[in-house]
Amino acid sequence: MSGDGPSLVWFRDDLRLADNPALQAALERGEPIVAVYVLDEESAGVRPLGGAARWWLHGSLLSLADSLERLGGRLTLRRGPAERVIGELAASVGAGAAFWNRRYGRAEREVDTRIKASLLAAGTETRSFAGSLLFEPWTIQTGQGGSYSVFTPFWRACTAGPPPRAPYPAPEAIPGLAADVPSDALEDWALLPTRPDWAGGLREAWQPGEESAHRLLDTFLRDSLPRYGAERDQPAQAVTSRLSPHLRWGEISPFQIWHATEWARTGLTGNAQSSATRFLTEVGWREFSYHVLFNAPDLATENLRPEFDAFPWPSLDERALARWQQGRTGIPLVDAGMRELWRTGSMHNRVRMVAASFLIKNLLIDWRLGEQWFWDTLVDADAASNPFGWQWVAGSGADAAPYFRVFNPELQAKKFDPHGEYIRQNVPEYGTDAYPAPIVDLGETRRAALAAYEQIKGMK
Ligand code: FAD
Repeated sequence: MSGDGPSLVWFRDDLRLADNPALQAALERGEPIVAVYVLDEESAGVRPLGGAARWWLHGSLLSLADSLERLGGRLTLRRGPAERVIGELAASVGAGAAFWNRRYGRAEREVDTRIKASLLAAGTETRSFAGSLLFEPWTIQTGQGGSYSVFTPFWRACTAGPPPRAPYPAPEAIPGLAADVPSDALEDWALLPTRPDWAGGLREAWQPGEESAHRLLDTFLRDSLPRYGAERDQPAQAVTSRLSPHLRWGEISPFQIWHATEWARTGLTGNAQSSATRFLTEVGWREFSYHVLFNAPDLATENLRPEFDAFPWPSLDERALARWQQGRTGIPLVDAGMRELWRTGSMHNRVRMVAASFLIKNLLIDWRLGEQWFWDTLVDADAASNPFGWQWVAGSGADAAPYFRVFNPELQAKKFDPHGEYIRQNVPEYGTDAYPAPIVDLGETRRAALAAYEQIKGMK
């Protein structure tokens, strides 16, 4: 029983106009559209955004508002617990319908379920859509009806079915509401750092927004896709797509990436062809992270493998943690990665693994502290991929590297940064007296980590 009132489109992790199923449903309904973003820092269990993510969100909202306005619409900004804010907004505009794309964290799902129930009770048609994942977690099941804990069979099951749906086109017009809907001013949300303004490097490295996401995808497919398979592990080559923050905020959808890659693949042969498969498989790891998060909602705080609860972490060495955060451990590849992270809000995947392994296994610092630092400093800080990545390195996670696999940062540097280009880019004083000596002995600490692991091995 929906009335004729306007359609509320609630934007969340899908800050785009093209291939946005919730927006598409509103367009098809034909009534004026009230587009809203809610900064929800109050709902229980919703993880507060880190600093770099807040910086990104500011730019992304500016870009979304601009795109909406160019097509005749408008973005309304509201701050507060989503349940109250959406309820009040729907009532005040007399919404006949409300649409959104689904989220997959437990707290977010609980909020959405409650809002859906109260909107429906108030007579507002309410529908949610799959916009952020190709394969929603509950749709992929093992033969026994359970969830997957190993990537390869998960991805085989995903890709065995029909291909992901084609993306929806970009809308040509957004019918706005004639009446003014009060909105917060974005500046009042203070998402940008001021004292100090640490975001200079982020501004140089990134341009949030839908347009820039598509530019990156086009350039990547044209220039880098054929080399991706062979060079994706070399941080100095900059051959990867750099789409992760755009995907995190939904400025581009995995459906768009999937189909554009399939299209680009048709012109390729041999190794370049398999590069495309490799790239889509990486997109598959993002899907797997969400599958795991959905089935283990406390992924950021609880070991997936319970035997790790008994891991004998020594008392925290605050100084070592600070040196790791500042990129002053005296281990060049680790320092290069940590400084890249601080300067640009990102770090190459190979180096993330090495820097995480060093924290956990050479400094014997609990993976959760590393996860929190990344959460605060990454522009792509993602509720699924970040804790998933950390637990993978720690050995406590799904399909994880075994604990006894301790990355040797020196060998990793030789193999993946053989000319030291990446290290020199990020650690200019490397090789001079100004560069610190290693804060730990790699061999000794590796042995200590393995001894600690022996204590929990075989425990369940
Ligand atoms: P590409 O190689 O171009 O890959 C394309 C897309 O696939 C990426 O944009 C990303 O969405 C997805 N992807 C690629 N590799 C992975 C992976 N291993 N796991 C999940 N998705 C993947 N990724 C995040 O998006 N957010 C995070 O917070 C995050 N934290 C991480 C923490 C650790 C300790 C580790 C080891 C990895 C983490 N990753 C995270 C995964 C990965 O490092 C980044 O997705 C990748 O570096 C992004 O660069 P790109 O967009 O150029 O990737």
